Amino acid sequence: MTSVTPEGIEAILFDADEISKAVARLAGAIARDYATDPSVLLVGVLKGALFFTADLARALPPSLDPRIDFLAVTSYGNASRSSGEVRLLKDMSESIEGKHVLIVEDIVDNGLTLSYLQDLLGRRHPASLRSCVLLDKPYRRRVDAKVDYTGLVCPDTFVVGYGLDYQEKYRNLPYLAKLEPWVFAGEVE
Ligand code: 5GP
Repeated sequence: MTSVTPEGIEAILFDADEISKAVARLAGAIARDYATDPSVLLVGVLKGALFFTADLARALPPSLDPRIDFLAVTSYGNASRSSGEVRLLKDMSESIEGKHVLIVEDIVDNGLTLSYLQDLLGRRHPASLRSCVLLDKPYRRRVDAKVDYTGLVCPDTFVVGYGLDYQEKYRNLPYLAKLEPWVFAGEVE
């Protein structure tokens, strides 16, 4: 089967193999740290961390008895730049009081989303609260959100694929890619 690169993709930054190695590395570190506190609750942040949460959960040893929940936030709307205002779109379906909670996020850029989630979930009295991020873009941090597990450090560019979108497109790509500049041409400053 031949794979066709969709229109607008300039370059692949991390292919499926690099992503799966990063996920395996993260799962190894998480398994070691939670070995004595089994039953970690993975809280995936929709929609971007959809595939990452699923792959991470499957890479963890069954002895960890991982549970999965999701919440949804927005800060980008349909643009490639953050509005700077984070909003909760969908809350989790269970209480996290007394649980070992691991926030599973696709990417941390200015840090506002992760810091918002850490405040929100921290106020709900979990037994512990850590964060695992697939991609780190450390160039434009505005707040110092603590990241406990980082998969890959990403160039300072807007990325799509493996769950990450631009205007709801490209989420299904099995790799992480950079977009061609003309894709953003219609955005207003
Ligand atoms: P932050 O609040 O740290 O700036 O950004 C976190 C959120 O912004 C991520 O969960 C993601 O939804 C979105 N985001 C940040 N950088 C990118 C990017 O390069 N590509 C995509 N598709 N989303 C991004």
